[in-house]
Amino acid sequence: MNISDKNNNKNVIVFDLSDNSDLGEEGYEIDINKNNVKVTAQKPAGLFYGIQTLLQLLPPEIYSQNSVQHSDVKLTIPCCKITDKPRFPWRGMHLDVSRHFFPAEFIKRYIDLIAMHKMNIFHWHLTDDNGWRIEIKKYPKLTGKSAWRVDREDVPWREVTPPEPGEKATYGGFYTQEEIKEIVQYAAERFITIIPEIEMPGHTSEVFAAYPEFSCKGKDLYVQPGSYWPNVDIFCAGKEETFKFIEDVLLEVIELFPSEYVHIGGDEADKTRWRECNLCQQRIKNERLKDEDELQSYFIKRIEKFLNEHGKKLIGWDEILEGGLAPEATVMSWRGIKGGVEAAQQGHDVIMCPTSFCYFDYYQANPDFEPEAIGGFLTLKKVYSFDPVPEELNKVQKKHILGAQGNVWTEYIPTPEHAEYMALPRMTALAEVVWSHTDAKDWKCFQNRLQVQFKRFDFMNVNYSRGYWKVTIHPIMDSGIYQVELESEQFNIPIYYTLDGSDPTPQSTLYKKPLKITNSTVIKAGLFLDGDIKEYYSEKEILFHIGIGKNAELAIQPSRKYEAHGAMSLVDGLKGSDSYRDGYWLGFEGDDMIFELDLGKEIQISSITASFYQNTGAWIFMPEKVIFEILDAGRNKVERSVLKPESTLEVKGVVIEDISAKFNNETARYIKVHAKNIAKIPGWHEGAGSKAWIFVDEVIVN
Ligand SMILES: [Zn+2]
Repeated sequence: MNISDKNNNKNVIVFDLSDNSDLGEEGYEIDINKNNVKVTAQKPAGLFYGIQTLLQLLPPEIYSQNSVQHSDVKLTIPCCKITDKPRFPWRGMHLDVSRHFFPAEFIKRYIDLIAMHKMNIFHWHLTDDNGWRIEIKKYPKLTGKSAWRVDREDVPWREVTPPEPGEKATYGGFYTQEEIKEIVQYAAERFITIIPEIEMPGHTSEVFAAYPEFSCKGKDLYVQPGSYWPNVDIFCAGKEETFKFIEDVLLEVIELFPSEYVHIGGDEADKTRWRECNLCQQRIKNERLKDEDELQSYFIKRIEKFLNEHGKKLIGWDEILEGGLAPEATVMSWRGIKGGVEAAQQGHDVIMCPTSFCYFDYYQANPDFEPEAIGGFLTLKKVYSFDPVPEELNKVQKKHILGAQGNVWTEYIPTPEHAEYMALPRMTALAEVVWSHTDAKDWKCFQNRLQVQFKRFDFMNVNYSRGYWKVTIHPIMDSGIYQVELESEQFNIPIYYTLDGSDPTPQSTLYKKPLKITNSTVIKAGLFLDGDIKEYYSEKEILFHIGIGKNAELAIQPSRKYEAHGAMSLVDGLKGSDSYRDGYWLGFEGDDMIFELDLGKEIQISSITASFYQNTGAWIFMPEKVIFEILDAGRNKVERSVLKPESTLEVKGVVIEDISAKFNNETARYIKVHAKNIAKIPGWHEGAGSKAWIFVDEVIVN
């Protein structure tokens, strides 16, 4: 397809398909000189990515919907030579359209955004407890009934109550097969493959609102307007009719989506009903399965066989590892990277999307100033720091990591504008994670280029997050020296700070490099634009103590949503604020907090203090008791102290209590703090019987 003409190769853009195999499936070369522009690739996808780069080289106005308005802008492009190809073949973005329904027009816009980021996968989460969103001709009630729920849009997700008797289901929607065909075509024109997700065996209660016969004992089930735990009604694995239904659905899905993969969910399937169901138990017996985990494995393997017979590959969330992985399955690792590592070690392909780097429904900045989100804390910088390939894999296993994707779950995301706000610019950071090789990544450089990306978004009227206008105060340990770093997500905006408790002004000290801190102090720091502080200053008390920066470990890991920086967060000199979601507190759901600190040598100890957080409205309680232990260098117990919090569990609102054990200047090398979780929420509480949370920060050793 060489359209260049030897006699007229001036003022032209030439697109050339060559057989340069170095460029691979998606790579391209660009050669821009004074006379012409040449884009070369081995495959059309490469030419498409070359075009995206050309657009990025042009002024950002090129992204405007209204070219007339910018007719005075000169469309110049710098002379350069570029050879470029992606690091990973799977560069994905996900969108949940069940928790909230997004119109087909927005799906196309989302695809445009994915395409401009040179990403190539759109994972479309089409079914879940809160609404079925894909027309299936054979089962019309899926869209007639399962796509609609009662409208609770005026209430935050975690407070949504179930439908009242006789209440009409008015919130929802679905995509017709005609719309889906059009969207699949639209995506294909942008070299994006759509991976449809049809959830099974769990997250399927919406199906039973229309077809209760495919559950174990489902009667009177409704499409849930919120999330309710435990979520026990799942597909009955004992009935043949269930498999017939799923296969019929999948046949229509396969027909609509040309992708190699079909995602079958597989996550969070509560096995309560399977344990009670005669048919499921009969299946376990007949198939000689060990337990309900193996029944799930049987379920998934059976679906995989069906998909394989129809020329498709199965992909599922990492729970599909439980009870044994289906032979050809690809695993999407979301609960950390452990599932992905395990699958790759077993020779399976893996997509990495751990919550800690890829869940774009988490807060991206201080929750006090952000729209309500599901929880968690995932900054732009953290997304950018992600490397999808775990160190512990060998060379062969590493090849099984196909790439990564960003997941946008929409419990707290009711509108397209809000979805853009949560996805961007974190999608931009992830795009670079999955495209660029690690040695080409540079946060400062990214931040600089991001300023132009923001302009492009402005011309596209994209509602991106404009970044965090507060200074982050965080500790770093650099060759044994404790320092405090002040950072912002803004680019080249000066930070002024004080250490004497006064409010920062443009006359305060300008921040240049990390601060060496040797005493307890208060840091106040703010961003100053044209001499004025932007929005708010940040304030942190540094508690200097002998535990700071020492080797810390946790026997049980905190919840992925509230993991701060792990064990070291407890001895970083910084206490959590009165918001448990501030990224300093560590949260444990149902588990105890068991912390051990190695002081490196024996030191005299006079006291150990640990801070705990309670907010019963958020299901966070004081621990039942806290056990403090100090051990000598030979790990022999020197002393032990068991204390109970003074605050009672019934107190409403936020309580922060320091629990302090006194020691008589005994010498010790190791320190253990074990906070015992009350485990189950007490009977008087709305969450009675569910797992209780404990939140802890800073273990102060003196
Ligand atoms: Zn059953």
